[in-house]
Amino acid sequence: MKQIFSLFILLTMSIITFSQENRVPSKGLALYAKDGDFQPYEFSRHAIGDNDILIDIMYSGICHSDIHMGKSEWGNISYPFVGGHEIAGRVARVGKNVTKFKVGDYAGIGCIINSCGVCDNCKNGLENLCEKGMVGTYASHDYFHNNEITQGGYANNYVVSENYAIKIPENADMKKVAPLLCAGVTTYSPIHFSNVKKGDSVAVAGFGGLGHMAVQYLVALGANVTIFDITEEKRADAKKFGAVEYVNINKPEELEGQNNKYSFIISTIPAKYDPVMYVKMLKIGGEMAIVGLPASENMPMIPAGSFVFNPHKKIYGSLIGGIPETQKMLDYSVANNIYPEVEIINADVKSVTDAYKNVIDGKVKFRYVIDMKTLK
Ligand code: NDP
Ligand code: ZN
Repeated sequence: MKQIFSLFILLTMSIITFSQENRVPSKGLALYAKDGDFQPYEFSRHAIGDNDILIDIMYSGICHSDIHMGKSEWGNISYPFVGGHEIAGRVARVGKNVTKFKVGDYAGIGCIINSCGVCDNCKNGLENLCEKGMVGTYASHDYFHNNEITQGGYANNYVVSENYAIKIPENADMKKVAPLLCAGVTTYSPIHFSNVKKGDSVAVAGFGGLGHMAVQYLVALGANVTIFDITEEKRADAKKFGAVEYVNINKPEELEGQNNKYSFIISTIPAKYDPVMYVKMLKIGGEMAIVGLPASENMPMIPAGSFVFNPHKKIYGSLIGGIPETQKMLDYSVANNIYPEVEIINADVKSVTDAYKNVIDGKVKFRYVIDMKTLK
């Protein structure tokens, strides 16, 4: 009995040692508290499984969601926290069953790194709506790997199943491609869900990282785009991206004549605002997609009565997009030269800490992208 017990202990120890040994060392930049600055952080990722690839990260976008999450604005998270779910890089290793990628290929990761794979939504390519819950790229319990908390892409590498990695075409502009993996698909998806067509009058509320992608997809479809934002500083950019009108909502005179005008509105606003103002701007039968997700304490509310007194208008939420749609969006964007406007920053604690402050203060045009190759 004693011998069997010793054997069992030995076996368990060697399994643990084996899986520890095969863990992939990683380093990045992390927040250690909701109010702190970024600091260097060394950690490890799960071993490269037979269906996994190891990506050496080249570029990582800074999404406003990273900030909401990193500052525990949607609920308390555990720290250290490595943000980043707009990831572009090169495949460094492949598991033995991998067929979609080979070493040296470009690969990307968005907000999803796994999902149950067997529910109806997963089977229909809607992994973002997995009934068990998707495994998010960061701050998420990875139920395929001992429930460990995932760490994001402000790091030198990532290990991901090939089924949840996106193929980046060789001719893509790698400096700009990463934000498509979240900002791109989050706006592309509802625009197509709502079937926006050439000549439609549409609006984009919030002209930031997501908003400027929405404008580009809508303009490419031939829609007439009006932008709503809170600053004068982006008026010229609105024209540059092809919008027909720019409304600074802090100028009440510019809001005149806006009601009953749009067949589609997308709200990307990350702060408290009045959604009913936009509901009134919809035509009968018009659709409003809400993607902006402010901090829980600032979450906008729509009184039920507003629906009755602004009848026959449709409002829905949208959450990123599934893996097939993300691939479709990426291929479309690269083929049509639709990219975010980016500001490249170095992967050091000051640059990333400052970048967060600038996004919060509305000082970024339009997306920060961290050059992860500069990580020391
Ligand atoms: P950004 O900060 O890049 O852009 C937000 C824009 O909204 C800025 O231009 C900002 O102006 C503007 N804005 C702020 N307040 C108002 C207001 N009251 N009215 C009109 N415009 C306003 O953020 P992102 O684009 O990266 O993200 C936007 C939101 O979308 C976030 O809440 C994020 O968490 C969420 N998100 C949701 C996803 C989903 O799947 N549903 C996926 C990804 C993100 P200024 O710059 O002047 O402050
Ligand atoms: Zn995002």
